[in-house]
Amino acid sequence: MTIDDLLIYAKKFIHKDQAKLLLADLLNKNPLELLNYLDEKVNEDVVQEYKKRVEAVSTGYPIQYAMGYVNFYGNKLFINEDVLIPRFETEELVENTIKYIEDIFDYPVNIIDLGCGSGNIGLTLKQKLQNSEVDLIDISDKALDVCRKNADNLGLDVNIYKSDFFSNVDNKYDVIISNPPYIKTEEEIDDIVKNNEPALALYGGEDGLDYYRVIFNDIKNHLKEKFLIALEIGYTEQEQLVDLISNTLDKVKIDCKKDLSGKDRMIFIYNE
Ligand code: GLN
Repeated sequence: MTIDDLLIYAKKFIHKDQAKLLLADLLNKNPLELLNYLDEKVNEDVVQEYKKRVEAVSTGYPIQYAMGYVNFYGNKLFINEDVLIPRFETEELVENTIKYIEDIFDYPVNIIDLGCGSGNIGLTLKQKLQNSEVDLIDISDKALDVCRKNADNLGLDVNIYKSDFFSNVDNKYDVIISNPPYIKTEEEIDDIVKNNEPALALYGGEDGLDYYRVIFNDIKNHLKEKFLIALEIGYTEQEQLVDLISNTLDKVKIDCKKDLSGKDRMIFIYNE
């Protein structure tokens, strides 16, 4: 079969952009250039693998898992069903955090990423802030394997270890960052998310705030005198979180920021 045949086949089942993306990936070509090679013959192994992936995606399997990687902040990150698929909003969290760090600190910082999953947050910070020291923790051994693989692929020297939030953490940090599970137990979410991504990485209890409570319960023991805390949040949770933060920490500034789609999505906390 040719590239053209395969695209015609796939478009019967999935969106044409997904059809191109999946095929380009298997052929190591740029999806935008695929149309220049329509008559090229595709070898049988690739045809079989492509059909398998097209079928998976057509039945509601996330294309990112089918491809086995995502692009996050310019890096290709390996992912599988053991980790949350990194989201665009989280790129915004990282981008803003870098700006805050550059504003607040005039020395290399140490950072911990709580609930690191694939490592998207902590690894990007390590890469962009060369002299920083970065720890990444997660409760899931399988997620830690994914994170280690990404750290190796990117050649980043970080500490990756198992911890249930602060349970195995001894250090104090300049920067604590987290995108904890924050979906409410009863919240309606898309089937593609609910049926495929790890529940452990999605749900934050009845009001979605369970893990923020865990974090703030212990956070004072892990902050240096001058600090930045950066959190991703569910868009309905801002008010309650600001209360939780003000009840835990004195004399702090709390900046709330929206994501590009206009939803309350991030909180930055730092010394007054
Ligand atoms: N830190 C990872 C991310 O932001 C995983 C988050 C999670 O599992 N809740 O995508």
